[in-house]
Amino acid sequence: MVANNQEPLSFARLVALDERRPVYPQTLVELAYEQLLSMLVTMKIAPGQHIGIEALARELQISQTPIREALTLLEAQKLAYKTPNVGFRAADLLTRQEINALFALRQLIEPKAAAWAAESADANALRALAKLAEEMERVQNGDELAYAQFAEGDARLHDLVARASGNRFVAETIEGLHVHLHIFRFLYKTNAQTEAVKEHETIINALLARDPTAAEEAMRAHLVASQKRMDAAFAEQERQPATDPVDDGRAARGGRGRRRR
Ligand SMILES: [Zn+2]
Repeated sequence: MVANNQEPLSFARLVALDERRPVYPQTLVELAYEQLLSMLVTMKIAPGQHIGIEALARELQISQTPIREALTLLEAQKLAYKTPNVGFRAADLLTRQEINALFALRQLIEPKAAAWAAESADANALRALAKLAEEMERVQNGDELAYAQFAEGDARLHDLVARASGNRFVAETIEGLHVHLHIFRFLYKTNAQTEAVKEHETIINALLARDPTAAEEAMRAHLVASQKRMDAAFAEQERQPATDPVDDGRAARGGRGRRRR
């Protein structure tokens, strides 16, 4: 999905990225991609906002061509879209209906993928899962960076399960949804609780015990609980009046866009 997709996506890095340039060598497209991705998921570029390529080129000190290429990659991830003769805009946030549809699809695939993973995960996958479980234990509730670290672990766990299922098409389908990117963008700024840590632990333990029934059930229960949390976040947003100070205070730096459709 990324020009150079060796590394798993790091939400923590994206949050910490801010205006600083990373120090490791990258191609200009990768550099532009990462900067833009950071701006889009942290909503420095607000949902629906026009993305001015010339202004970005000046701000990032990168020429326009790599920025255009990066935007094309982001378009494939449905984070930006192009309108003829107008240019690029940041995608809207997912609607409540879209989130529910996304979870309905995940429920069809991921519990079964977890059952298969319990049966066929190799030693490397099991090692990676055990390591991830340890890392996720250390994630605390709290600020945006903590949430980013949680989201990163979450994305890695679901990707690991998908790949360990041994079914390439299942893995591609799950990865192709870019679920975690969109959920992260949606929940960023809400300092979402990391209740899912326990649920993840249950999934990982079932996988390490090579128990397909328990793994399938744990994944199903986790997705149900996740969907409920997302729905609660929507309900919370809808309760806020349109003149909420959160809205105008952040507008200048590309705050969270409210749904108006
Ligand atoms: Zn999860």
